[in-house]
Formats: sequence, structure tokens, C-alpha cells
Amino acid sequence: MARRNVLITGCSSGIGLALAVKMAKDEQKRFKVYATMRNLAKKEPLEEAAGRSLGKTLEIKQLDVCDEQSIKTCVNSIPDRRIDILVSNAGMGLIGPIECQTIDEMKTVMDTNFFGLVRLLKEILPDMKRRKNGHIVIISSVMGIQGILFNDVYAASKFAVEGFCESLAIQALKFKLQLSLIEPGPVVTEFERKVFEDGMKMDLSAADEETAEMFTNIYLKNYKQIFQSLGQSAEDVAEHTVKIILAENPPFRHQTNTLYTPMTTLKYADPNGDLPIDTFYKMVFHHDKIFSASLNFIKLLRWRSRKSFDLGKPSQ
Ligand code: NAD
Repeated sequence: MARRNVLITGCSSGIGLALAVKMAKDEQKRFKVYATMRNLAKKEPLEEAAGRSLGKTLEIKQLDVCDEQSIKTCVNSIPDRRIDILVSNAGMGLIGPIECQTIDEMKTVMDTNFFGLVRLLKEILPDMKRRKNGHIVIISSVMGIQGILFNDVYAASKFAVEGFCESLAIQALKFKLQLSLIEPGPVVTEFERKVFEDGMKMDLSAADEETAEMFTNIYLKNYKQIFQSLGQSAEDVAEHTVKIILAENPPFRHQTNTLYTPMTTLKYADPNGDLPIDTFYKMVFHHDKIFSASLNFIKLLRWRSRKSFDLGKPSQ
């Protein structure tokens, strides 16, 4: 099989970095990875992790998903502009009561998480259609399926991604293109650290007392525990993503975190949409001690098994 060109966005940290390195170090050398990042001054951790694959199966390029020209320049610099696999990974989070967030902050999240993907596809999709070949892989989130308390705008940005992709997938089929949404639950990366720090620093004066108290004493208080109990590593998510890329018939949706699946299943179990909302409400406000004890129990089980997630048999 010919070596496939892969372009990945947001590779200076987290899932993008882990995926770029994993694909570049593929033993069968099936991929040439164009690992892109907004700010090349942050390339050192990727260079270090890439080791000997740097300059061979991995090249680092500048690409800001919020800047059309930078996307064009990057794609033009790739031989024949041939991108066989696009991984749209760059993204950012935002938590807190909407009263305390500015419209500009919200627009930046939408611009990065949703319009970032749209800009990439406007540049790359026409080439893929012409060649009738290509796999578009999007790092979405379980929050693209189900909203979560104090993640209103982030969830909206991922819902936008999912709706956009559901529509596009029908057209893509006509051009023999594949589209896959990777939906991780909590992942322990820079994202999680930055979102938490921003939440801790947030000026809550625009919110009423009850909302501010809910954010601080319920949401932020449980935040770390949720990531410690349910969180995957960036490498786990990268492993799932490679598995989907190598699958003969890649699925449209893939959730990476089996511990989280029962929550997203609630959405499909009730067409009225009340079941997941009621369940989250009761878990957060009525059964918080049971919820917290369950998280501890999961953490213990994971520690005992020393294995976070079963990925099944390796593919190909
Ligand atoms: P991360 O912060 O380590 O990585 C995000 C990357 O996107 C960073 O390298 C950042 O510099 C880059 N980025 C941000 N704006 C950009 C722009 N305009 N142009 C180019 N790059 C830009 O966090 P991560 O967890 O690895 O996040 C990767 C993806 O996974 C995101 O789309 C995120 O929404 C998604 N995700 C994360 C979690 C989680 O809990 N960490 C869960 C589900 C989904």
C-alpha cells in the first residue's frame, strides 16, 4: 500500500502531538505525517517525541485554523497538495456561567472548534473530491452528543461540528470519501489544565450567588476527580484514532471512552430528551455523594487493573 499523507492540526500538545508521533513511528511506515501547529515556537515537545522520525515520516508546519491564508500556504507546501487523511484536532474549551463570559470569548471558541474545521475543509475537500479519495477524521467530543453543566458554549461548538459532519457525510459518500467523528470523554491534557485554571480565575461577579456557588462548589470541586477517574490519556485517544483510520470500513462515530458510554446512551434511549437531563440533574444535585463514591470506585478499579481501556485486537 502506498504511503498516505496525513495532515493533523493542533500538534503542539495533547492528542494532536500523541497522534502525530504514533503515526510517524508506524512500524510499517504507512504514513507521512504533516504535523501542524499555530505557533512554531512551541514545536520542541513534538520534536523531542518524534525523535528519529523527524524529517523522515514527520514534518512540522505552521497552520492556524483561524487563518485561511495560513491553511492555504500549508496545503500548497505539500507535494501535489495531496492529503489522504485530514485530522481536524485543534480545539479549545470554555467553562463557566454564560453571564460571566464575553461574546468575544464565545466567538473565539466557535471560530476555532467549528469554523476551524470549515476553513480546513474549504481548502482540502475539493482536492479529495477530485481524487475521489480521502478520509476526514474529526476530534469531536462526547459533548458533541450531550451537553454538560457549565460547558454550554463548548458543547454548542461540538454540536455544530457534529451537525455539519452529518450533513457533509452524505455528500462525501457520493465522492467515496470517508468521514469519522472521534468522540473522547475526559482526556488529561493541556486542555483540561487550562480550562480548570481559567475556571478558577473566572470573575463570577456577574452571576447570582446560587449560580456562582454551583460553579465553584459543585462543578470545579468535582472537575479534577472526574478527570482522574474517567480520564483517558492523549495516547489512548491516539490509539483509538489510528484504529479508526486503519479500519476497512471506518465508522461515522467512535466513542473512545467505554466508561462514559452509559451516559451518552441515555440520549438515544429517550427521544423526548428528558432522560439524560434528569439523570445529570439528579446525579449533580441529589446524589452527589453516590456520584463521588462511584468515581472513586472507578478510579480504584482502573488502578487495580492497571489498564485503562480495552481496544480489542490490533487492526491490520
Ligand atoms: P490541547 O490543548 O493539548 O490541544 C489542543 C491543541 O489545539 C493545542 O495544541 C492548541 O495550541 C491547538 N490550537 C488551539 N487553537 C488553534 C488554532 N487556532 N490553530 C491551530 N491550533 C490551535 O488539548 P487536547 O485535549 O489534546 O484537545 C484536542 C482536541 O480534543 C480538541 O478539539 C478538543 O476539543 C478535543 N477533546 C478534548 C477533550 C479533553 O478532555 N481534553 C475531550 C474531548 C475532546
